[in-house]
Amino acid sequence: MNSNNSDSMASLLERQKLAHTQQMTVSAAERRERIQKVINLVVEHHQDFAEAIEADFGGRSQGFSIMNDVLGSLASLKYTRDNLAPWLISENRAVFSPYDQLGSTARVEYQPKGSVGIIGTWNAPLYTLLAPLACVLGAGNRAMLKPSELTPKTAELVQALFKQHIDPLIVSVVTGGVSIGAAFSALPFDHMVFTGSTNVGKKIMSAAAENLVPVTLELGGKSPVVVSEHCDLAETCKRLALAKSNNGGQVCVSPDIIYFPRDKLAQATALLLENFRSFFPSISNNTDFVPIVNRQHCQRVVDLVEQARTAGCEVHSSHEVVSLSALVSTDKRLPLQLVISPSKAEKIMQEEIFGPAIVLLPYDDINEVITDINSRAKPLALYYFGEDQAELEHLLANTSSGGVSVNDCLMHAAIHDAPFGGIGASGMGHYHGREGFLAFSHQRTVFVAPEHDPRGEWGLLPPHHDQFKAMMSAQVNAD
Ligand code: NAD
Repeated sequence: MNSNNSDSMASLLERQKLAHTQQMTVSAAERRERIQKVINLVVEHHQDFAEAIEADFGGRSQGFSIMNDVLGSLASLKYTRDNLAPWLISENRAVFSPYDQLGSTARVEYQPKGSVGIIGTWNAPLYTLLAPLACVLGAGNRAMLKPSELTPKTAELVQALFKQHIDPLIVSVVTGGVSIGAAFSALPFDHMVFTGSTNVGKKIMSAAAENLVPVTLELGGKSPVVVSEHCDLAETCKRLALAKSNNGGQVCVSPDIIYFPRDKLAQATALLLENFRSFFPSISNNTDFVPIVNRQHCQRVVDLVEQARTAGCEVHSSHEVVSLSALVSTDKRLPLQLVISPSKAEKIMQEEIFGPAIVLLPYDDINEVITDINSRAKPLALYYFGEDQAELEHLLANTSSGGVSVNDCLMHAAIHDAPFGGIGASGMGHYHGREGFLAFSHQRTVFVAPEHDPRGEWGLLPPHHDQFKAMMSAQVNAD
């Protein structure tokens, strides 16, 4: 039933939709059971997933994959399984006056939408499929998954295991590259979740628009970090070095630009490099450090750094290398590159880095930083390191971002009881927890009329006479 060409994808979706219309009500118990099957699959095969991801990256440590993709997915699935029951209960709402006094009622019901398409990325090849799937199944839907073709072994394993363990009319998996992705995004799903780049996100939204398919777009961008004058610089740099090393910098909420007070920049540069080296005494063949997924992406990161260097920027490397370019054809592990004060014209100031490099910018006044952040597309994450509450409040009140972590990075994205998502160019819509349930449920208002219809005695029924307009006009006020 798992299938890879456009016709069979379309026919599979049709069958899922038919199954949905034949069973539009899905009890909490059945939703939990569906989620449990996915949990069991992940638990039983977690070692297979870790091995497949290791092979796809050419050496991502199995421990990291178990933490990031296996435990991350399980946390989402279990949170939804254990919390969904009260979310399903319809909510009574207030009816307008005077109908509220005549016995009418209103409620909001949460209905499954139907069949949801989920497109994932290579950087978290299991998590970007299964974390949204948790909310999609929690909301009583069916799903079709499209893993990234850049992690093909993981994609094939996901496809084979779902085929073996899960009814394809509940969850099915389609594998393939850009053309399959394009055909997939053109299908008339009841909702589409896309995790990936902003540029491809635009194509997904445009394809979905043809069928008026609502979209949740989990995109990326250049997440900034603001380091306060009032901070513990040593601790800040330790946490920043650790955050930037996560998945070799290939994380949607990875810090991309750090603003340091001008008088702290030199010391911070040294501390970042020192901390990074303490975590990773060597880079080449160090299995604690995640390699870049493939040569093309490795070359892309090298090019961002080398273009800035050629333009005259100061660049510091955590480890000495003869040439960064030469590392592209080795194990694709690049040492941390700190690029100091590139101009806005440099590519590294315009594109998401998505690798082990970061821009450091000096500042004199926090308001300059706010203006600079607001001059770029709204980021997926914003980070603040410091102890100045008033400054933090000022920053939060005058910027926008998908989410925020204070005195650390990445953490807010791991909370299951709070929405995760972007804004503007970093995405739209949320998943995780109840907000994920709401995103994939149709919130349907049901009004029940009172037995007695008062409109006749109120003079509201046609044919209308002059008093009708006078009655309406009499109620126009600004109270
Ligand atoms: P990508 O946009 O290149 O690809 C994502 C998916 O889209 C893949 O499955 C791919 O096959 C598919 N695809 C590519 N072209 C397509 C097209 N024309 N039509 C339909 N589908 C198409 O992204 P990537 O390189 O896999 O992932 C990196 C990006 O994802 C970064 O920008 C990162 O910030 C972002 N990301 C975001 C989150 C989040 O939760 N917000 C999580 C992980 C990654």
